[in-house]
Amino acid sequence: MSASGNPLIFRKGLDRKQEVALQLAEDYHSDLVAAIKRDGFIYSAGRITVHLAREFGFCYGVDRAVDYAYQARVRFPDRRIFLTGEIIHNPHVNDQLRSQGIRFLSDPGESADAVTRDDVVILPAFGIALDVLETFVARGCTLVDTTCGSVLNVWKNVTRYAQDGFTAIIHGKVKHEETRATASQALKFPRGRYLVVLDKAEAGVVCDYIRHGGDREAFIARFGAASSPGFDPDVDLVRVGCANQTTMLMSESLEIGEMVGAAIADRYGADARPQHFRAFDTICSATQERQDAVTALLDEQALDLMLVVGGYNSSNTCNLARICADRIATFHIADPECLISADEIHHRPVGAPSTTRGREQTTRGWLPPGRVTVGLTAGASTPNNIVGQIIKKLEEFCR
Ligand code: SF4
Repeated sequence: MSASGNPLIFRKGLDRKQEVALQLAEDYHSDLVAAIKRDGFIYSAGRITVHLAREFGFCYGVDRAVDYAYQARVRFPDRRIFLTGEIIHNPHVNDQLRSQGIRFLSDPGESADAVTRDDVVILPAFGIALDVLETFVARGCTLVDTTCGSVLNVWKNVTRYAQDGFTAIIHGKVKHEETRATASQALKFPRGRYLVVLDKAEAGVVCDYIRHGGDREAFIARFGAASSPGFDPDVDLVRVGCANQTTMLMSESLEIGEMVGAAIADRYGADARPQHFRAFDTICSATQERQDAVTALLDEQALDLMLVVGGYNSSNTCNLARICADRIATFHIADPECLISADEIHHRPVGAPSTTRGREQTTRGWLPPGRVTVGLTAGASTPNNIVGQIIKKLEEFCR
């Protein structure tokens, strides 16, 4: 708590940037990846050629969140430091933080009830729901808020929808921390409502209801857990605004926006559309750049297969894998340990629901014999040292 009695919230760093720079480089930098970037994003050794996507790995939001967590450890060496959950969806990074004594309130045996005013709590890059934030503020602990600016931009739009009486239709995963946090912004105003749709199929159901109405109870039963308390489709789908989790497939988010806008125009007439419909593109630029870069890689290179690296619960990584799997044999792997041999690989089936490590799939004969060309990209929460270790392993397999 500050001298004024207000909670102490760090949002712009903790004045320890220089002190942690070396440690961050040691933990996440890769000389090999840096060299490959300098050499045109291509690496050849033995019988293998690896093409890296032009944009991959840590985004600006993740960079900043991890930096702030390291700074917090240095600035508060004697205080207990908690993360509300995973800082980003990468097991390697989360384990590095655990090894510094930073505790995760989502871990077994931990509880937010144990947090006191003497503790420091770090909020993750994808933000936290308003009610959870209020709990920590009430406890008077010191907060380090790493919520990414691109997520804040989505919140700004959703807040404006709520203020103006528009329901936020959010393209996202209802259980994802970012989507839960974004949805909570809609509840800041009495008229605020939200509805989360996972994909075009769910958006299609919503569009049908906008156009023709339907079975209200069935709609509520289907979307109850994905909508604001007391959601009434007969009332709350009259004025809608689209938003999205920042890491969704951009093309799908845009299509959903167009679908909803067309449904509104059909129901109320094209002239009345502005009174009933709003949309903002809230995919973050880092997500967009990574999706564009992997599409360019697939267009420009004759690849035998794609490796997509990132946590299995990382939304942006899963979407990179979806883009690739539509075009070519694709393996979504979490880390170098997934590469067992030139014959055997452990990976997450593309399109499968978020899964734990134990439910990975094993494929044999994944690396073709003879000369092989592999495309490689990594989600926004994957550090370069992990990418570098994967390339080294590929080299070993292809000597
Ligand atoms: S993926 Fe985008 S929104 Fe998420 S942390 Fe990175 S830059 Fe921010």
